[in-house]
Amino acid sequence: MHLSDRVRAISPSPTVGIDTRAKEMARQGVDVINLGAGEPDFDTPEFIKEAARQAINEGFTKYTPVAGIPELRRAICEKLERDNGLSYEPAQILVSNGAKQVLYQAYQAVCEPGDEAIVIGPYWVSYTEMVKLAGAEPVVVPTREEDGFVPDPDAIAEKVTPRTRVINLNSPNNPAGSVYPRRALEAIAELAVRHDLWVFSDEIYEKLVYDGAEHVSIASLGPEIKRRTLVVNGVSKAYAMTGWRMGYGAGDRDLIRAMDGLQGHLSHGISSITQRACVAALTGSQEPVAEMRREFDRRRRLVVDRLNAMPGITCPTPRGAFYAYPNVSGLFGRRARGKVLDGSSAVAGWLLEEGRIAAVPGVAFGDDRFLRLSYATAYEAIAEAMDRMASLVAGLER
Ligand code: PMP
Ligand code: GLU
Repeated sequence: MHLSDRVRAISPSPTVGIDTRAKEMARQGVDVINLGAGEPDFDTPEFIKEAARQAINEGFTKYTPVAGIPELRRAICEKLERDNGLSYEPAQILVSNGAKQVLYQAYQAVCEPGDEAIVIGPYWVSYTEMVKLAGAEPVVVPTREEDGFVPDPDAIAEKVTPRTRVINLNSPNNPAGSVYPRRALEAIAELAVRHDLWVFSDEIYEKLVYDGAEHVSIASLGPEIKRRTLVVNGVSKAYAMTGWRMGYGAGDRDLIRAMDGLQGHLSHGISSITQRACVAALTGSQEPVAEMRREFDRRRRLVVDRLNAMPGITCPTPRGAFYAYPNVSGLFGRRARGKVLDGSSAVAGWLLEEGRIAAVPGVAFGDDRFLRLSYATAYEAIAEAMDRMASLVAGLER
């Protein structure tokens, strides 16, 4: 049977794929340690769950406005003002099923066939596929390990063509853990304004920064850049709410209206119950977020220290998100049970088969020399994974 070129042009999400496989192995009783998906292991804070129970008890179970209930859009405006110094009207906010759907709709809303979108590499796996699904072409501008995975504005400028429509940013970055400094963002903002480009700024890991790193939203750098930026954020990572499915976009009124129109045909408003829970998350105590961040920080130091002690592996210290992104190319050419480790997929496959450790190969993010290990899992499980990995590395044949 026929399948469209559109769906045949994309690859299934490798992060989702590895997570599904690891969870399936765990269900079958295999003691797999899942450092694959970026999903906090914490439970959603109790007061947020309570707001959801209350919504159910009150019968708040009907369709809502497509772009979100007024209380939630207002709570998002207040959050953006409080945390990012950004002032928006509720009409500039769209609530969707996760930041993922916000970004998908944003690309659908601005791209024509043949357009280009600049995606900074290494990149979260879904950006390039979303760009393709909008008929456009992703143009990857890689960052370098030596530069701390911070984008070079000159390298971006070189890739701007008359077909460029969007610059896609993601700070704190998945998978590299970099946090873009204000200086780099100022130069990118200037570039976007000069070339009349949209900026999609995925800030979903905003709350997870370490070592005094400061999260700066590019939209806060002046009215001209704010006008052309879609700020994308959500509750999945900061509030341990991945399964609730809420993300939002804030930006230009016409863009939001277009995305709202699209969403009206695609999925309608998100779960009414989730929306009530999210009002509680955004307006209630932020202490649970701070607590989770502290624990992520502890795990981060463990995983980075342990990885750097393994011969053939170097791991820069990430300053944001919850991923370690070691360079494992020093292992390439070595043999495990006679099989040569010839790339990040071979390394990830070997870790899963021999060590029952799930990790995502760097090739999924556009760089085959790396591996991504999520530290959004229990400290003890990470310690055990590092023990297993260290002994596997020590046992590699020359
Ligand atoms: N952006 C990035 C960089 C991510 O890692 C994720 C993780 N799923 C998302 C967006 C989407 O998050 P969600 O759809 O759960 O809000
Ligand atoms: N964003 C997370 C990750 O990178 C969850 C899976 C996904 O949506 O890609 O692992």
